[in-house]
Amino acid sequence: MATDIASRVRPSLAGFEPYDPAFSPCEVNLSANENTYPLPQDVRDGIVQALTTTPLNRYPDPLANELRTELAAWHGVGRECVMVGNGGDELLFNLLFCFGGPDRALVVAPPCFEEYKNFAKMCETEVVEVWRSEQDYSLDADALVDAARGASLVMLTSPNNPTGDLVEPTLVRRLLNETDALVLLDEAYVEFAPAGASLVPWVKDNPRLMILRTLSKAFALAGLRCGYLIADPQVIDVLAAIRQIYSEDVLAQAVALRAVRSRTAFEPVVRAIVEEREELAKTLAALPGATLWPSSANFLLVRIPGAAQVRARLRDEHSVLVRDFSYAPGLSDCLRITVGTHDENERLISALKAILEVE
Ligand code: PMP
Repeated sequence: MATDIASRVRPSLAGFEPYDPAFSPCEVNLSANENTYPLPQDVRDGIVQALTTTPLNRYPDPLANELRTELAAWHGVGRECVMVGNGGDELLFNLLFCFGGPDRALVVAPPCFEEYKNFAKMCETEVVEVWRSEQDYSLDADALVDAARGASLVMLTSPNNPTGDLVEPTLVRRLLNETDALVLLDEAYVEFAPAGASLVPWVKDNPRLMILRTLSKAFALAGLRCGYLIADPQVIDVLAAIRQIYSEDVLAQAVALRAVRSRTAFEPVVRAIVEEREELAKTLAALPGATLWPSSANFLLVRIPGAAQVRARLRDEHSVLVRDFSYAPGLSDCLRITVGTHDENERLISALKAILEVE
């Protein structure tokens, strides 16, 4: 008799599908908001050295203390305010594992990063969705504050993926003052926003505010899997107690430490991406029928008639991969395009112009 494994899965986990990054091998991949620029040479040399000198026979330091210390010094907080994770994703999951659960709710503001909702469901947490405006994707501050009054956790993204906008600090202030929820501000892309956009400095006076950051974007280390949370030491202590003890491996810790120590070397790369973003935004906005939203991140959201076909033709005829969101609620005919190098962006533009028959 056949054994039906699916029926034995814990009910809250039934029906989940493996994550599909919608990846097809292409010469130009602008689909996953990675940093496509080469690593600065000094950083590359430091990383090679770290990889060749780090012993693999010993277990990692569970809390990655050397890396925590470096991150803490950078952000002007104590080490006890920093937790490192196997990508931001692990920290997001652990936050829901800790602070979610039956009879608790997470408030999100879609369209936003889908994993918040997935992790909440896995952790049996109700998800309350406060949708952004269909016209300009602005947040509904009053509705968010109302929803947060009954919730354990709020997750907002600044800049938001995929809409590119920053969360107004006044909204975060209201959530902290007018509700009792924990507030996670996901700043995965904040290095690409104007200086001063990060709310990390607020953490020390606001024990319910938590900031998520990652080395996957500005630091061009998406493959390494290293993210970190800046929060009140009480939050960090809880996360320290429930985490997978060795989730951050020795190589990831050593490489991340080199990269964070060399953080100023990434500044020219980030500046170049921001300049390219503004150029690309102008060109995309001028395409026939296109609507473009301003972005403070390393990607742009654009609405183009027939987006799904445009994306397929970019991939199949021009070997350029972008992300199609036209299937997603609130994002009809939207493509999300990572800002690449100058050459990659040129290639994207000429491919788009060929498809849309623009001179
Ligand atoms: N938050 C947002 C908004 C993201 O877009 C991503 C990655 N795409 C993450 C968090 C997680 O990034 P990572 O796990 O690579 O650190």
